[in-house]
Amino acid sequence: MGTLAQGVTGQEENPIYQLGVLLLQVLKELLLSLSNEELGFLMEKVVTNKDLEEILEFVLAQCRSCGKYYTTKRAINDVLTAYSESVSGFDEEFKEMIYLCPDCRRRELTERFAEASKGETV
Ligand SMILES: [Zn+2]
Repeated sequence: MGTLAQGVTGQEENPIYQLGVLLLQVLKELLLSLSNEELGFLMEKVVTNKDLEEILEFVLAQCRSCGKYYTTKRAINDVLTAYSESVSGFDEEFKEMIYLCPDCRRRELTERFAEASKGETV
């Protein structure tokens, strides 16, 4: 003992540091006392992939075109609320754009612009 802490001066005095060391020791002993099965069970209980997916699904919004997570659902709702307050009724095309990531939105806009200018005779 002592050799490890020598580089960190004053840290040993810090109660939070001491608590951290204590917690790590307890956690290490606890984990070492568990069998692989128990450990696996614990890990599964703490966070399953399904939980993660549900959290992602709940918090993040997926691009409807490429499937990339690009913003939060909260942000989308904020935009929708802001627009429904300023504009009465939604332009369906605009509404679709909200559900696209910036990359897909740009591509979509370019395509629509190209499509729209095709019909114009200059
Ligand atoms: Zn996209």
